[in-house]
Amino acid sequence: MDNQLIDAYGRSIEYLRLSVTDQCDLRCFYCMPKGFKDYQEPEHWLSFDEIERVMRIFGELGTKRIRLTGGEPLVRKQLPQLASRLAALPGIEDLSLSTNATRLSKHAVTLKQAGISRINVSLDTLKPERFTEITSGKLDKVLAGLMAAKAAGLYPIKINMVVMKGINDDEVEDIVAFCIEHGFTLRFIETMPVGDTGRNAADLFVDLKEIKQRLEQRFELVPGMMPGGGPARYSRVAGSDINIGFITPMSQHFCDTCNRVRLSVDGTLYMCLGQEHKFELRPLLRAGISDEELKTAIRHAINLKPERHEFNEKPEQVIRFMSMTGG
Ligand code: SAM
Ligand code: SF4
Repeated sequence: MDNQLIDAYGRSIEYLRLSVTDQCDLRCFYCMPKGFKDYQEPEHWLSFDEIERVMRIFGELGTKRIRLTGGEPLVRKQLPQLASRLAALPGIEDLSLSTNATRLSKHAVTLKQAGISRINVSLDTLKPERFTEITSGKLDKVLAGLMAAKAAGLYPIKINMVVMKGINDDEVEDIVAFCIEHGFTLRFIETMPVGDTGRNAADLFVDLKEIKQRLEQRFELVPGMMPGGGPARYSRVAGSDINIGFITPMSQHFCDTCNRVRLSVDGTLYMCLGQEHKFELRPLLRAGISDEELKTAIRHAINLKPERHEFNEKPEQVIRFMSMTGG
């Protein structure tokens, strides 16, 4: 079919994660090394025109959802302008953003006006000192950003918490209570061996089954659901609207339903978070490729998508940091 992308394993690819920068103003220790500055050169960044063109072509090939990510996407200047250009593309039904929220106070209203429908915010702890130990940043900025997003009407707001043994696993009940108070969806994530930073955090791995069992002692959890077809398995806290998602790439992978690919800031399509299969679009774009040739190139790339990640079997495999591909 002309207007859809089906990979070699029969999966329909209709979701694109677009990393608009590999830079970040935080240094979550499981994601990016302290002092890391080895970023892509600006001349390698896809321009907004190039991004819009590639997204338009993906839209013509059946992509319905785009998530802006990074690095920290709000570090890229004029991001709301890009958002409004992408929101206007035919076929794109859902434009969302993953952010650490440090800059949300300033941008929440403009992002909402630009067509961002919903956001995911990383928040691993509610303790200011611990937040600084984990991220090298300041918790109060993030909380202010979250409240600005809520006030701007961004909805749903999903909190992403990477649960780590001895670091923040004592806080899961507190974060659930925080999300109930503010009407946020919560997703727990298992640490993944992406880059040396992710591998160094492997000892901190917590199987989320244990976390769920623990939460069931305090909250009544009933089967839940969130629109969006993501990898989280949801439970709802009875008596509230709050859904809690468990994202378990390590203990129970979900590759057979994977519907996404990732485009990095330098125009490389990564076919899987946990594999090196990739295809470089930038040289083709800058060599003047036609739209039809671009479609053929993207179809070829989609065929390279591997069946599954091998985080457990080959944890040494992925060298790039999560911030380079977008989580
Ligand atoms: N800066 C934005 C943020 O933090 O939400 C977007 C990019 S960040 C790379 C996307 C997600 O990847 C975050 O939720 C982060 O917690 C997660 N992440 C980064 N490194 C990880 C790792 N080694 N294992 C599991 N999740 C990781
Ligand atoms: Fe930055 Fe997000 Fe990585 Fe933290 S997880 S260092 S906020 S890109």
